[in-house]
Amino acid sequence: MNLTEKRMQFILTLRSKGVSDPAVLAAMESTPRDAFLEGIFKERAYEDRPLPIGRGQTISQPSIVAQMTEALELNSRCKVLEVGTGSGYQAAILSKLVRRVYTVERHRPLARAARTLFQELDISNITVVTGDGSLGLPEQAPFDRILLTAAAEDPPANLLAQLKPGGIMVLPVGQTDTVQAMIKVVKTDNGLEYTELGEVRFVPLLAGVAKDTEH
Ligand code: SAH
Repeated sequence: MNLTEKRMQFILTLRSKGVSDPAVLAAMESTPRDAFLEGIFKERAYEDRPLPIGRGQTISQPSIVAQMTEALELNSRCKVLEVGTGSGYQAAILSKLVRRVYTVERHRPLARAARTLFQELDISNITVVTGDGSLGLPEQAPFDRILLTAAAEDPPANLLAQLKPGGIMVLPVGQTDTVQAMIKVVKTDNGLEYTELGEVRFVPLLAGVAKDTEH
């Protein structure tokens, strides 16, 4: 299969896994996942699998990226916070559907690589911040939507506090060595409403900025 065929097959696979929102499918179709991978993994970019991106981290499985994006019920007025930039792939998808994306990564080299990639791809509505995303970004809060792409034991209180009334937060919860649940939290006038979206497996949400050795 050549690249065009692989990318067509990719969208068919997402559809067969229940992704149906045309805007989400269009965002996935127009985002080159191979650009977010390195070396031998580029060739496998259009498989529906998580893949390594260095620093012991992974780019998420595309059908899960699509499912989380759908669950956020985005519109063009949204200001979104993503915790866990990783490769930047999820942020790039979000950036096509909303006004502004803030994404926080605790590994400085990953944050830097994502920033460079967004420039190369002419994406100008994403701000990448190096830091501990579990604290949120108080200076940019509140957010219409918040997405965590690393698993927390519980929804972090700082992040819930930075969600607008009527806002939606999607995150994997649970211990890392067991199966986690993807949940959707809606902040309503009567409190928080939780919906379980399915089983997932993500890397853990860790505290603090990583002490990476640079090269
Ligand atoms: N969204 C990414 C996949 C993320 S993997 C993508 O599309 O490629 C999860 C990422 O969360 C990892 O890069 C990890 O370093 C980061 N992470 C974990 N805990 C964090 C925290 N407290 N703050 C910011 N980033 C965190």
